[in-house]
Amino acid sequence: MPSFRTHITTSSCLGVVYGAVGIAMNVPITSAVIGGGLCSLAGMLPDLDSDSGVPVREITNVAAAVTPILMLDRFAAMGLGHEQMIVAAGGVYLVMRFGVARVFKNYTVHRGMWHSVPAACIAAILGFMICSCHSLPLQWYKAGAVFLGFMSHLVLDELNSFETKNGRLRIKRSFGTALKLWGRKPWANVSTYSKLALVLLLAFGDHMYFRSFVNHNRDRIRTASEFLGGFHGRVNHDEHDADNEGAEKQDSPQIKTRETLLRR
Ligand SMILES: [Zn+2]
Repeated sequence: MPSFRTHITTSSCLGVVYGAVGIAMNVPITSAVIGGGLCSLAGMLPDLDSDSGVPVREITNVAAAVTPILMLDRFAAMGLGHEQMIVAAGGVYLVMRFGVARVFKNYTVHRGMWHSVPAACIAAILGFMICSCHSLPLQWYKAGAVFLGFMSHLVLDELNSFETKNGRLRIKRSFGTALKLWGRKPWANVSTYSKLALVLLLAFGDHMYFRSFVNHNRDRIRTASEFLGGFHGRVNHDEHDADNEGAEKQDSPQIKTRETLLRR
């Protein structure tokens, strides 16, 4: 079995390439960086089905910390205020940190159906939902990053099934347990493909809901970047004022809008 370090190194290298390809295709640099980071992290995800060890704790902690941050755009688009965002992010963290970790610990077996192509699709679709934002192509880009990172793990696991002994190629018993479309247990297959169908439906429904919500609340919407941009804009504006006493005190309409948003 390839080590944790091998997996994370491979997915990180792929993440760098994925980010660079994104930039070459005119993806905003911040989104390309997020895409690369997601690819890197997704390379660890399949081993969530291991029952113990540092990697599992590491993966759970990182996923729990990163998910609420990735959901900031969604929270902002839902019109949540600053404090409501903090509460929502805290809730997501707790669910990920304790709920999801427990589900994996109790209901998966190592190299079961969580090490499979349909599981990679499930992870990518969940990534698609978590990264809801104003741009559908960017959402697909980030979901693709999760898929690529996840698949890199499966391919590495599968390549590790081959070894040479006394100059002869030998295939280990683990061959076919990682990069698979279905496993040996019929019920696990039914369960996995049902979950894939369910997350697909959820993603479609969520996308439609998110679109209509955004369209109906256009005037109240600010993205997380606008929020942060507004904060920095306000700070710079204050510094500028302090440096220029007696200067024009009239705020620009843009700053006024940002201030209104920040007070909410
Ligand atoms: Zn693995």
